[in-house]
Amino acid sequence: MTGYNCLWIKRKFVELRESFGGKCQIPNCGSIEKLEFAHIKDTELMGRGRGRFERYYDIIHHRDCYALLCQECHHKFDKGDIDLQGNNLDAENEKFWNEAFSINGNKIIRATEGGENPAQN
Ligand SMILES: [Zn+2]
Repeated sequence: MTGYNCLWIKRKFVELRESFGGKCQIPNCGSIEKLEFAHIKDTELMGRGRGRFERYYDIIHHRDCYALLCQECHHKFDKGDIDLQGNNLDAENEKFWNEAFSINGNKIIRATEGGENPAQN
């Protein structure tokens, strides 16, 4: 890629970022740092031909397949820890497992959480 094209695509990405609101789209985050485009639906671009021009073209033609996320949220989203509304799926899972494994209605309390160690009762 020539220097000129490189600058051009950089500028285009800035424009594109602004058109997505210029900040992380997770409602309770909204970071303006380390923003990245995350795939939220599959496009033909998945897996192959992921150069910057191809990616730029893909985003403007499939806007609804992308979200603008900060690096941290992108990572969490890809891991399945949060959804696009910012719901913490990890916490949901933990709640589910805590309830599933409660003994006689008592929550299992990890030793690190409260002062009391349930094993001493
Ligand atoms: Zn974020």
